[in-house]
Amino acid sequence: MNILVSACLLGLNTRFDGGSKIIHGIEELKKKYNLIPVCPEVLGGLPTPREPAEIIGDRVINKAGKDVSQNFIKGAEETLFLAKLFNCKYALLKERSPSCGFGQVYDGSFTGKLTHGNGITAELLRQNGIIIFGESEIDKLLKRP
Ligand code: SF4
Repeated sequence: MNILVSACLLGLNTRFDGGSKIIHGIEELKKKYNLIPVCPEVLGGLPTPREPAEIIGDRVINKAGKDVSQNFIKGAEETLFLAKLFNCKYALLKERSPSCGFGQVYDGSFTGKLTHGNGITAELLRQNGIIIFGESEIDKLLKRP
């Protein structure tokens, strides 16, 4: 079975700061699923490294004040395209990101505060029936029959 995985969780240096957020359990996950790496922000045309961005209302604004909503929307659409192409029913996504976060995201103040909500990509995937797990929930994917 194919599953989508946020590229930074696999160790790809796609984060805004040029780093990654590799997690434990990827080797186990690889034994069970075919992992399809995606980075919506890069797929949306943003460079790495880049200014951090947060969701403010219905827009995504970076720390320099630039509206990057169109990049985030394009990245979400490209990610959905890959999810459909590879018939992914599940996604393991980076928590709290304005693209990949699910359930909680940063609140737009760039102070590290969280608020209820989904990243732009996570929300589009959810609307299309893909079941989303955050990285702290990797065990749920590993334990699935
Ligand atoms: Fe990781 Fe998602 Fe941010 Fe890309 S957009 S660096 S995959 S959290």
